[in-house]
Amino acid sequence: MARSRKIKLSKIKPLEVVKYGHPALRSKGKKIDKIDDAILTLAEEMIETMYAEDGCGLAAHQVGRSLQLAVIDVMPAYEDRPSRAWIDGRELELESLMPLVMINPEIHPVGDERSSEVEGCLSMPGLHDEVERPARVRIICQDLDGSTLDFEAEGLLSRAAQHEVDHLHGILFIDHLSAESLKEHQPLLRKFQSQASF
Ligand code: ZN
Repeated sequence: MARSRKIKLSKIKPLEVVKYGHPALRSKGKKIDKIDDAILTLAEEMIETMYAEDGCGLAAHQVGRSLQLAVIDVMPAYEDRPSRAWIDGRELELESLMPLVMINPEIHPVGDERSSEVEGCLSMPGLHDEVERPARVRIICQDLDGSTLDFEAEGLLSRAAQHEVDHLHGILFIDHLSAESLKEHQPLLRKFQSQASF
């Protein structure tokens, strides 16, 4: 299932996921100029962390590193929340893309359709709410080999990519909620903040 030969997950230990209140979550991630061994290792550790935490995506910010790097795997959630992806109009086998490592990603909405679905975040465990986002997006990023990936996505992959790219710019999914919804979540957010260790 690993797309890149460089990904070997056997001896990699999961990292600690920082929670709401950690300053990394509100920072803008630095562009990655060189995909060196440190970046390869970090990507491997992030993939392992995402699986260990049962998440479908993880941004470098969530392991305390403010870099333009995020990982996604939508396959474990596929039955409940399907995804589709295309390159040059040709539909892809999703498995061939997973786990997806996005380095220096750019994301653009395609068309006007929007969709509203429940999201959660490993940095805010237990907090869930509906977020409206563009239904289909174009994602342009580098993979671990440094080659450019340019594809369109719908479903959970589109949503997860938008959620993770937001993280890389210091944006959290709660920033998309109404003031009223946000107010309901304040007790939990205050709890995370009081427990934040950094
Ligand atoms: Zn998140």
